[in-house]
Amino acid sequence: EKISIQLKSRTYPVYIGNQVLYELSEFLQTNRPSKICIISDETVASLHMNTLIEVIPSSIPRCQYVAPIGEKAKTMDVYADILTFAIDERLDRHSLFIAFGGGAVGDLTGFCAATYMRGIPFIQVPTTVLAHDSSVGGKTGINHSKGKNLIGAFHHPEAVFYHFPFLQTLPKREWRSGFAEIIKASFISETSYIDELQRSFLHEDDFNSENIVRPVIFGIETKKRIVEMDEREQGPRAFLNFGHTLGHALENELGYGKITHGEAVLIGIVYALRLSRRFYSIAVSEGSFLKWVENLGYDVTTIRHLDPVRLLNRMKTDKKAKSGTCTFVLLEKIGKPVLKEIDDDVLLETLSTFLADIR
Ligand code: NAD
Ligand code: ZN
Repeated sequence: EKISIQLKSRTYPVYIGNQVLYELSEFLQTNRPSKICIISDETVASLHMNTLIEVIPSSIPRCQYVAPIGEKAKTMDVYADILTFAIDERLDRHSLFIAFGGGAVGDLTGFCAATYMRGIPFIQVPTTVLAHDSSVGGKTGINHSKGKNLIGAFHHPEAVFYHFPFLQTLPKREWRSGFAEIIKASFISETSYIDELQRSFLHEDDFNSENIVRPVIFGIETKKRIVEMDEREQGPRAFLNFGHTLGHALENELGYGKITHGEAVLIGIVYALRLSRRFYSIAVSEGSFLKWVENLGYDVTTIRHLDPVRLLNRMKTDKKAKSGTCTFVLLEKIGKPVLKEIDDDVLLETLSTFLADIR
């Protein structure tokens, strides 16, 4: 399967399937970069680096850099270290970075590619479910000690090669993290998909590299439509933040490693559904939604000890919050997201009852 992301300036392909490494090999044969620099993390490198290297034409020089796992990769230190590495390895404007890993490696590598010599090409070889979201759309970046993703650039890959067999080694927790973004897409997309998702995934054992193909394609198609409308996040792209306002606050409050991005987003979705029910009349039962996600292994109770006032302040300092009030993505109905400014007192009240209810 191939999905084309059509931007104003250019179009690039996202290959998805079980044989995608062939396409990667062909791409490299055709494009013949002067040198390839693979960026990966410790886990992915030890599990899958050999498989990737096998399909790289031996006539193309290559080097590789192994970053620490998770958010530890997205630091200024690692970023600076990679640029030093790139200079020492004499990468030039015709060289190619390969982001080989999850969203963290993708964001880091994309930002290195965006800034090295004012920008050189890169490709994404995602190895997590979550990376279906992060590898499309051109957002790249690293974290600052004062906040996540505060340093970054828009820089689109030349192509994305999503080879599903890599997912087979992914821990269940990471499946859940990525699946939360698919749940998100299924709520904001006009082509309603949530019912089908609820029918085909009943238990965490249903998470496997075959079942996930259709949902991932759906997630990428949803993101594609929105990104093509709004490359630089001035309008509809904000809808992709459904569940993310509280989600980011939870990630910041708990600290990375305590909760995954998707676990936090999932809880943010439950809360956004609740707000949507308060302001509009959407037909989603919180009870049955919670039951479904619990069967898939999500644990929403991990946040029950948190302080609503601190969470509210976190939401207000999110870089996407305009000065003053918080703007939420809510649903007028399923498939119809809207932006809604919500006053602090309403948020505080609903957050308090939300935290009390999920105990
Ligand atoms: P990640 O890269 O940290 O991967 C999660 C974990 O899975 C890591 O420990 C990694 O080593 C491990 N892993 C990766 N592939 C594996 C495999 N095949 N088998 C076994 N283990 C494997 O993170 P993620 O969850 O993929 O993505 C989260 C990151 O993505 C965050 O930094 C977030 O900010 C970013 N993100 C970016 C965008 C964007 O538009 N740029 C969108 C969403 C999220
Ligand atoms: Zn997200």
